[in-house]
Amino acid sequence: MTWKVTVLTLFPEMFPGTLGFSLAQKALSLGFWSLDVINIRDFALDRHRSVDDTPFGGGAGMVLRPDVLENALESVLKTTETKNPALFYLSPRGQVFKQETASTFLSTPEIIFICGRYEGLDQRFLDYYKIQELSIGDYVLFGGEVAAQVVLETCIRLIPGVIGTEDSLCEESFTKGLLEYPHYTRPFLWKGISVPDVLTSGHHEAIRSWRRLQSEDITKKKRPDLWLAKEPTPLPSKRKREKGLSKDVQTDGLEI
Ligand code: SAM
Repeated sequence: MTWKVTVLTLFPEMFPGTLGFSLAQKALSLGFWSLDVINIRDFALDRHRSVDDTPFGGGAGMVLRPDVLENALESVLKTTETKNPALFYLSPRGQVFKQETASTFLSTPEIIFICGRYEGLDQRFLDYYKIQELSIGDYVLFGGEVAAQVVLETCIRLIPGVIGTEDSLCEESFTKGLLEYPHYTRPFLWKGISVPDVLTSGHHEAIRSWRRLQSEDITKKKRPDLWLAKEPTPLPSKRKREKGLSKDVQTDGLEI
């Protein structure tokens, strides 16, 4: 089934943007997902095609008008197959988007993203349509378009069949609450630095164990917040760990 995405924006030419390349583009052309881009300005009510106005109460910037947004959104809602498609406004005030959120988005067949500009959207529009706010991080962008593409790219690569080797998704950063282990490729010796011995040992269990310990170590050091939030999982047995470790491996702090 096609995952149906609609984006409301003042800059439709920014789409598909980064999603028009590589696997996201291929997935689009093969119908794994579909994209409708709606130009909010097409729903302006005056001959100047204005979409924004000054904020009540004063202050800097402009605010997107609720009546224009209403017309744009209603035009989409008229055509959706699902009664209540998921509605999101990309916003720095929103709940922060995480890897685990992506799979929940994919479980909804139709999803609508609204990209803000300027100071954002009139609050009444958000409240009336019960639109959820979604942030991609604690910083402020010019608009929601790049944020929407970040969210979409994260989701699209999780659609079954989009990535050839789905095994790689299972071990990726954040999938099990850990960051990923380091990767190495040819040449074996580069600038006098060799690849950790265990990776060329051909001993699959030892490699798995080494990678698991590296993941834990890296997560602990780089993202202690993730490490602390993680459910304790059993470590490989002492014997397996000893087999899996080469002299290059840092094990400090991993014993729990
Ligand atoms: N006045 C807003 C505030 O202080 O929260 C910032 C508005 S920002 C300049 C314009 C638009 O960019 C927002 O309406 C939103 O759509 C988008 N945007 C900016 N930062 C974002 C973020 N971290 N995550 C998602 N969308 C963001």
